[in-house]
Amino acid sequence: MSEIKEKELLLKLKANFGYDSFRLKQQKIIENILAKRDTLVIMPTGGGKSICYQLPALFFKGITIVISPLIALMKDQVDSLRANGISSAYFNSSQLPQEHEQVFDGIAKGVIKLLYVAPESLPLLQNILNQTYVSCIAIDEAHCISSWGHDFRPSYKQLGFLKKSLPDIPIVALTATADRATQEDILNQLAIPHATRFISSFNRENITLEVRSANDRVKQIINFIKDRSNQCGIIYCLSRKTTEQLTEKLKSSNIVAIAYHAGLSFEKRAEAQEAFIKDDVEVVCATIAFGMGIDKSNVRWVIHYNMPKNIEGYYQEIGRSGRDGLPSEALLFHSYADVIQLRKFIENTGNKEVQEAKLERMKQFAEATDCRRKILLNYFGELVEENCNNCDVCKNPPKFFDGTLIAQKALSAIYRLKGKEAMGIVIDVLRGAQNATVIDKNYQLLKTYGVGKEISWRDWQHYLIQLMNQGYCQIAFHLNNALHLTEFSKKVLFEGEKIKLTSPVVIKKEENVVKRIKKERSDNTLFERLRQLRYQISKEEDIAAYLVFSDATLREIEKVRPITDNEFLSISGVGERKLEVYGGEFMEEIKNFLNEKKKKRKDTTLETYKLYTEGLTVEEIAMKRNLKSTTIFSHLSKLYLEGKDINLNKFITPDVLKEIVNAKKVLKGEVALKPYFEFLGEKIPYEQIRIGLTILQKKS
Ligand code: ADP
Ligand code: ZN
Repeated sequence: MSEIKEKELLLKLKANFGYDSFRLKQQKIIENILAKRDTLVIMPTGGGKSICYQLPALFFKGITIVISPLIALMKDQVDSLRANGISSAYFNSSQLPQEHEQVFDGIAKGVIKLLYVAPESLPLLQNILNQTYVSCIAIDEAHCISSWGHDFRPSYKQLGFLKKSLPDIPIVALTATADRATQEDILNQLAIPHATRFISSFNRENITLEVRSANDRVKQIINFIKDRSNQCGIIYCLSRKTTEQLTEKLKSSNIVAIAYHAGLSFEKRAEAQEAFIKDDVEVVCATIAFGMGIDKSNVRWVIHYNMPKNIEGYYQEIGRSGRDGLPSEALLFHSYADVIQLRKFIENTGNKEVQEAKLERMKQFAEATDCRRKILLNYFGELVEENCNNCDVCKNPPKFFDGTLIAQKALSAIYRLKGKEAMGIVIDVLRGAQNATVIDKNYQLLKTYGVGKEISWRDWQHYLIQLMNQGYCQIAFHLNNALHLTEFSKKVLFEGEKIKLTSPVVIKKEENVVKRIKKERSDNTLFERLRQLRYQISKEEDIAAYLVFSDATLREIEKVRPITDNEFLSISGVGERKLEVYGGEFMEEIKNFLNEKKKKRKDTTLETYKLYTEGLTVEEIAMKRNLKSTTIFSHLSKLYLEGKDINLNKFITPDVLKEIVNAKKVLKGEVALKPYFEFLGEKIPYEQIRIGLTILQKKS
């Protein structure tokens, strides 16, 4: 193939996918594939792996075979390509023989550019799996070939034969799995040891990270969702039962939620997944069984109701949010009960030590007092020194104070309880609680009983966790999770060592940002109308709403308000086919919106005029209409310019008018009010300046 210039790549990227530039290493990867070299692509979820093989496919003569583990995902990808006008198909065991015939036909005629295949269906493709037809083979979710990874699929094992039987065809392996051993294994198993490797940063800047204490988490979750209406999200829970219970609780708070876990029938699961993908439900409460095979780009948030087993899992799960690159949120609830539960699971599995170490790292992440993103990226082997400014710790750095006295009280309570009690009882004793356990065991007689009354239960929990993290006490998991002192505690109890603690974070219920978003979300914003239109079209076409346009594209349409073909095509995410098929309807909606707005503006000005002619003063009109008097003045100015009989001169003295005339001579073409305000020594109010300028404008 002759060399393809950068310009051609960009032209095709825009025409077929609607994007103006490449992300991360996409361009280098694409050039490598076009040069027919084997390629390994490691990119985080949502990084944009698909385009890496989809764009070259449009340049190659024959077809690109894409091997993909999940049938549901194949359909989604094919829908997405077709929405962009790219001819593609899938081939798997769920289809009828006639459908298979059609696929063969399309390949023979050279009309299909990309064919998605499940690995177990490959043998059925024998007669076309040769160099006459195939130009490239992409293996998606390539980590499935490795038994090292977390997601091994036996049917992937046979893929090594591809390189042997088609030595000249480039093989592209793609995955979001970072770990080195798995990467090596992928290349070995696929027999492409010399593949060029492209490893992108795992940072997903657009995802805000937050960890909260799990107290009252259901209430916290309900508030969180209510503050983000019309946004889709996933809540991961540890157990099937929790997913169902939580779903019920959300439903009774009028949140459209659905449960998903491996215990449900195949139909029920498919139904839940479909409803979520198609924006019919806002929230899925799921076990980790949910998510593989979800390419939905407009998942705006992911909540972990329970702590995940390890950082790999956590990162993969939060990675399902914000694939479109727009701001998204990851919220993790941290509870000690979860840690204890997870440790119990680990007890009964193989390689216990590794898993315990991984859980420990997860816990450290949750309890961090340093930038959380740094911790994550360092975990994946990327050394980062800068703080991210997009995690709760960066935004709200912990405030340290002298916690020596608190530490002494806590540690001596543990000491007096002889290391026999778990955190809950330790706190009860500190707070002087009078519950059955305390009384039964006569703990009210201990010297430390009630010495920490003034500190809330929640805050004690927060302090005890910090003391654990600092190594002064620990949980004896094998002894009913009792708290034990460590040898370092002596220093605090007997040697006067000072301790620094952080104050608990108070969750503000409604931050300004949230309020603003909420206001924006009222039904009649342009975005909401575009979203409704998208939903309606997606129903008519029976595809997922985000495949019509992503949230990012809708946001840009909202901002730019395109009303011509050229303007519409300039939007990122709009290619030629989408302009042709959807452009008209969207532009019509924008025009309607603008006209209605204009009309509303006109109506409100006329209302002011009516009251003015009835003889009301500006203040009276403002009061009556519940508007600011500056707004009324701007209405009057507009009416005055339109030639309505309004005497603006009575609102301004000749002297002030003269000053404005002089200012205008200096400021000339200036139309904004602020330069006048400043020029006039910030003495003359804005509305006076507006009136003066309006009078002068009318005169000229
Ligand atoms: P991955 O397979 O790596 O998880 P996808 O291929 O599904 O990610 O891409 C994630 C999202 O990013 C999709 O909505 C895709 O259309 C979008 N995307 C990919 N490349 C670009 C680009 N160059 N510019 C803008 N958006 C892009
Ligand atoms: Zn940070």
